[in-house]
Amino acid sequence: MRYEGNIFRPPGEWKSYLLQCTIGCSNNTCTYCGMYKDKSFRVRPMEEIHQDIDMARVYYGGAKRRVFLCDGDAIVMKQSDLLSILDHLGEAFPQLEKVTTYAGPRSTLTKSVEELRELREHGLGRAYLGVETGSDAVLKAVDKGVDAERMLEAGNRLREAGIDLWIMVLIGLAGQEGSEEHILATADLINRMKPNHVSAMTLQLVEGTPLYDDARRGDFHPLNARQMLEETQMLLEHIDCGPIHFTSDHASNYLPLNGTIPDEAPAMIAALTDAIEGKTAIRQEWQRGL
Ligand code: SF4
Repeated sequence: MRYEGNIFRPPGEWKSYLLQCTIGCSNNTCTYCGMYKDKSFRVRPMEEIHQDIDMARVYYGGAKRRVFLCDGDAIVMKQSDLLSILDHLGEAFPQLEKVTTYAGPRSTLTKSVEELRELREHGLGRAYLGVETGSDAVLKAVDKGVDAERMLEAGNRLREAGIDLWIMVLIGLAGQEGSEEHILATADLINRMKPNHVSAMTLQLVEGTPLYDDARRGDFHPLNARQMLEETQMLLEHIDCGPIHFTSDHASNYLPLNGTIPDEAPAMIAALTDAIEGKTAIRQEWQRGL
């Protein structure tokens, strides 16, 4: 119940008790991300984490059903520490249904499938993996820390361990020049990884990040709103596996979408066509958020 700095969580975790296990992100190099730039990464002392769980049990009366482990990638923690946190959460909240976390690809790869399965058995039900793109060139340009094959391996390990895999991809991340390659490679990676959920978020340049500075200097050419919608449409047209729960309803997106691929893909593509042709209103820049 004590927090350091800004706390971020996926939109669907709005009902979850947010338990801060690490401060910041162990990667913290991605050129577009300003989430944890003001924090230097460290794991919180275990004693503090366990105290927080006890405080939350008193505050919520043990009635919480969901817990989200923050900050950037709690999965990087020592296996024994994660297991003790999951076990304590299970004791503190008898109605607990699911514990979830962000999972950076490099952090995920520090765990074997067996270790991830053990975490699953102790209550870790879902991981949000920031894939962003399937393009090696873009992954390198944004300093994500892995190439597409390693990203695929991270996703596959989570899936094989039985953890509900929710990936995020970032529309517009390659700018004007790399747009088509970014989307086709991202669709290809999704088709090979076969996640349960895909969230397509839309790039917003964040002041203080290297990508923002690149754009100001004219070294990065962002897409306009119409091109962002076209990228989203191209992505949907090239995903050929399923069922996948697809969302594009984050505050960063111009047009909220939520449906299942493949069944509802044609309707989402049609909605994008209407927006591209100006028949449907889209979010204005001032209405967008991170
Ligand atoms: S891994 Fe995620 S949280 Fe960490 S810097 Fe990259 S985008 Fe930000």
